[in-house]
Amino acid sequence: MTAMIPGHDLSISGVSKTFGTFKAVKDVSLDIKGGEFLTMLGPSGSGKTTLLMMIAGFVQPDQGSIHLDKQPITHLPPERRNFGMVFQGYALFPHLSVFDNVAFPLKVRRRPRAEIEEKVKAALDLVKLTTQSERLPRQLSGGQQQRVALARALVFTPHLLLLDEPLSALDKKLRAELQEELKRLHRQVGLSFIYVTHDQDEALSMSDRIVVMSDGRLVEQGTPGELYDRPRTAFVADFLGKSNFVRGKVESHIGDGFVFSGDGVRFVQKARDTKPGIGSNVTVALRPEKLSIVAPGTESDNRLSGVVSEWNYFGSEFRILVETAGCGPISVSLPAWNAGAAPEVGQSLELGWSARAGMEVQEA
Ligand code: ADP
Ligand code: MG
Repeated sequence: MTAMIPGHDLSISGVSKTFGTFKAVKDVSLDIKGGEFLTMLGPSGSGKTTLLMMIAGFVQPDQGSIHLDKQPITHLPPERRNFGMVFQGYALFPHLSVFDNVAFPLKVRRRPRAEIEEKVKAALDLVKLTTQSERLPRQLSGGQQQRVALARALVFTPHLLLLDEPLSALDKKLRAELQEELKRLHRQVGLSFIYVTHDQDEALSMSDRIVVMSDGRLVEQGTPGELYDRPRTAFVADFLGKSNFVRGKVESHIGDGFVFSGDGVRFVQKARDTKPGIGSNVTVALRPEKLSIVAPGTESDNRLSGVVSEWNYFGSEFRILVETAGCGPISVSLPAWNAGAAPEVGQSLELGWSARAGMEVQEA
């Protein structure tokens, strides 16, 4: 149990699901490598649970196929897939002890008593609940109950672990603890985890790779760093962290970038892969933390003047909203330790950013 479980590869190809006339999942293809921590991130209603249920076998896709280690499993019943599952609710049997809850999948599989004993102990050890094994679920905290659910999902050495917003019922502090715990478990067991969440911070901090869903489609996938630093779509730039958007028309090409102007203000931007054509419309996403307040006359690739309309202090940073002439309201995040005096509402200032700070993105 504490030994590494060999990771299994899952391949999803062109999967769609319609409920009545509503298309919940639209032509999703996705490969999950053995041992990977993959997160499906998206707003509520974007099709995450439906996709997970198709992987689990509880929902049949209308189109497409699913393979495990190259074997088709699209129409295999859930109990023959050998996948572990953990959901938002704890779904423990209330009248069974912790031990018996965890033993349940092994009893269903008619494993011998000695093996059950040994595996349940190992699973409880893994989630640090060895001393609670005789308790009933109601005698446990929410976090402990979710650990029992995890032990129960891992005890039978599943091929994959599917987790659907398992921490969303917990308060913030407990959630952070369980996030750590889940990452440790993932490292320890070596199993592929497919984790569903609508919480971007959770996705950024836990995943090897994130796939972003919107409106039933897979919009983008990549490592947390790739998606945060180099989003390709305005949707991801704004859903994963916060972004400002500066829009305009390309005027000329310079060096490894281009000049564009919107509402009479001119900007320079490093090109992404190829330079956009002259005259084309571009959208550049700008992270609030990549902007700074620049003193008049100092060197900066880009400058934009505005007036502070709001500010908030968060201990580690000031978040300031600046109303600008050409680009509307722009959010700026300044490290508080280095920000000097608090900004004032009504204060005029100039924002600056490097040509490399922005990221050219596609609008939906
Ligand atoms: P998410 O998990 O991302 O919140 P879901 O996969 O649960 O999204 O749902 C996607 C959409 O499909 C939602 O609009 C939901 O109402 C709809 N849906 C999900 N399951 C069913 C169902 N069994 N019947 C009808 N509509 C459904
Ligand atoms: Mg859901």
